[in-house]
Amino acid sequence: MDREKGILTVVSGFSGSGKGTIMNRLLEEHPDTYALSISATTRAPRPGERHGKEYFFVSKEEFESMIDRQELIEYAQYVNHFYGTPKEYVSQQLGLGKDVILEIEIQGALKVKEAFPDTLLLFVTPPSAEELKRRLLGRGTEEASVVASRLGRAWQEAQGVEAYDYLVVNDQLEECVQEVHGIIQNEHARVARNGSLIETIRAGLLAFAKGE
Ligand code: 5GP
Repeated sequence: MDREKGILTVVSGFSGSGKGTIMNRLLEEHPDTYALSISATTRAPRPGERHGKEYFFVSKEEFESMIDRQELIEYAQYVNHFYGTPKEYVSQQLGLGKDVILEIEIQGALKVKEAFPDTLLLFVTPPSAEELKRRLLGRGTEEASVVASRLGRAWQEAQGVEAYDYLVVNDQLEECVQEVHGIIQNEHARVARNGSLIETIRAGLLAFAKGE
């Protein structure tokens, strides 16, 4: 069956929810199905992060010229830094029939949904607030003050969860990866996403009905 086109999915979740790990597993397991958008950011790379892999790390001036040239689908400020989604890669991959995933925070998610109403919004949460704090401290890559501001931001983001289509609890990683895969793939079966297949079947049936 021909798939109409790729599904645009936004995955958000508190910093420390494990959403990045889930996305990486999803891509490893289904490299032909998914494409992960790489954002631009003005924050500094964490140890091990590479330009063009986790993010395009750019200066504030470079980020501002991307905005001026309208190269971003959306952008937002998050804990003192800017983050934005480059347009070109996303539209190219959707055109190729890939399911494109944007791993972005809530302000960006809402802007994408407004611009593209058939976007699927998923929110990933750890099983509890205590577990989130434990994971953020355990990561050991941020200072205590950064962990505190990320927890504050998580509280704010928790107020917006109702705008999302699905809530995924990240307790067991592998189960969570399967769950996210299932949600996105089921979306392809929605009637509203299969207009041209339905039209083709109708046209064929009409021809039979006329005895052609
Ligand atoms: P981190 O600094 O932990 O990599 O990311 C901080 C937050 O920024 C995360 O919630 C992440 O999902 C979000 N983020 C990453 N890229 C983008 C983007 O392109 N646009 C928006 N709006 N948020 C982003």
